[in-house]
Amino acid sequence: MPMTAIPPQKNSNTWIKNVIKEDEITKYLQQGKDFINDDLIISQLDQAKNPEKSYIHSIIDKALSIERLEPGETAALLNVMDQDLWSEIYEAAGQIKKTVYDNRIVTFAPLYCGNLCVNNCLYCGFRTENTSEKRRLLSIEEIKKEAEALCKIGHKRLILVYGEHPSSDADYMADSIKAIYDTKIPTKKGFAQIRRVNINAAPMSISDLKKLWSVGIGTYQVFQETYHHQTYQKVHPSGIKSHYQWRLYALHRGMDAGIDDLAIGALFGLYDWRFEVMGLLYHAIDMENHFGVGPHTVSFPRLTPAEGAAFSINNQYQVSDKDFKKIVAVLRLSIPYSGMIITARESAEVRRAVIPLGCTQTDASTRIGIGSYSEQYNQQEKERQQFMLGDTRSLDELIREFAENGTITSFCTAGYRCGRTGDKIMGMLKNGHEGKFCKLNAILTFREWLDDFASEETKQAGEQMILKEIEEAKKDPFYTNSKLFSILEQYYGRIKNGERDLFI
Ligand code: SAM
Ligand code: SF4
Repeated sequence: MPMTAIPPQKNSNTWIKNVIKEDEITKYLQQGKDFINDDLIISQLDQAKNPEKSYIHSIIDKALSIERLEPGETAALLNVMDQDLWSEIYEAAGQIKKTVYDNRIVTFAPLYCGNLCVNNCLYCGFRTENTSEKRRLLSIEEIKKEAEALCKIGHKRLILVYGEHPSSDADYMADSIKAIYDTKIPTKKGFAQIRRVNINAAPMSISDLKKLWSVGIGTYQVFQETYHHQTYQKVHPSGIKSHYQWRLYALHRGMDAGIDDLAIGALFGLYDWRFEVMGLLYHAIDMENHFGVGPHTVSFPRLTPAEGAAFSINNQYQVSDKDFKKIVAVLRLSIPYSGMIITARESAEVRRAVIPLGCTQTDASTRIGIGSYSEQYNQQEKERQQFMLGDTRSLDELIREFAENGTITSFCTAGYRCGRTGDKIMGMLKNGHEGKFCKLNAILTFREWLDDFASEETKQAGEQMILKEIEEAKKDPFYTNSKLFSILEQYYGRIKNGERDLFI
């Protein structure tokens, strides 16, 4: 497959100089300072050493009532040494997941649109100084082909990933989002389409973010990578990304641009994991303080070996599997209302161990080469990858495993199409009502998926799952005391007869 020509660059240097708008940082600062006080976090972690058992129990109880924790409380959890107490924390994490999200999981696929990047993040294969990286930016036609390939296996949600570069600026992103929403492919019954397009991209100005909002972006995701100021400077030695605060307030600007589903994350392995968990919590608190709503999701990717990025290998802060489990559980307790995303960077074994501790979204059939869903996935494609994947199982395989374990895969994208986003969805998540709607939409969208895309084996496991879910709904007065259960029955019948995209 010939490489697509890289489009003529807009004047790179002028573009780079104009990205950062200082007034779109200073407006969020408190007395000239950002919300990460490194010394305070270190002292909070220090002071919380050897927490009393009774104190940990009171924190667990608070989290179980779906209340966000305070930094001192999270610091105490992070300092637990007693294995029995950790077992209690894991159990509570699972219960919180059940209360807020029940037994559902949402799947998505990442779509890498390009690997052109002006930054030099020491841990990333796309960094500008990695001269062995083959550079490519997909044309809008090629993006459509990728979307078609993903529709064919039944994906309904994508996250588009971009390097930071004038050729893949906000206009290109907006065009790519539009192109994906316009892509339709025929299925056994009707057609399939991507119904939610999220993006993972560099921080932007409010006016650029408004462009993405106007074309229907789902969630805007930016990882702070590390919240520790000094480490941040060390691993981002040059480029736009070296500006810590421009990145720290990316999601605040997203909120001001009207995007209300915003996703935070830290790249675990750059600095001490306990510090990063505290950083994520402070981020959620500052979003709550400014906008009355915290992050839609939290991500906690672990640093993975990447070609041409020596820093990604053998780093002193690499997180063990054992500590990774603690990260997931403490985040679940600390920010109980947010979704939590685990990706295919992790092995199948690790995903099995931590999904029950509170993860709500995961990717499947993942490929991270540029153009690798629609083109031959050969050696050349692998060279264009950002890092190595841990779990490359197909969507069908993953869904089957979930169904066999009692987890239903939801393809629901009703939330943002019915205005259940931002503060509206947060309130409903906290009082458990969103979960109730999600359960019905999970049944409907899963039915649709099984009919259109499942292998025979997966269909069998899925059918049993659906019957169990319908039986549960039938016994729940929340549905039977209102018209909801009869609407479910009606819609379910219509979907079986071939109608598509019905939601409550
Ligand atoms: N360029 C944009 C940015 O940096 O925000 C978005 C795309 S970047 C490819 C998406 C994320 O990949 C980064 O935020 C970083 O956390 C993650 N990443 C980079 N190198 C990685 C590695 N070696 N292992 C795991 N994740 C990595
Ligand atoms: Fe570029 Fe993002 Fe990779 Fe950094 S993490 S080099 S900004 S693509």
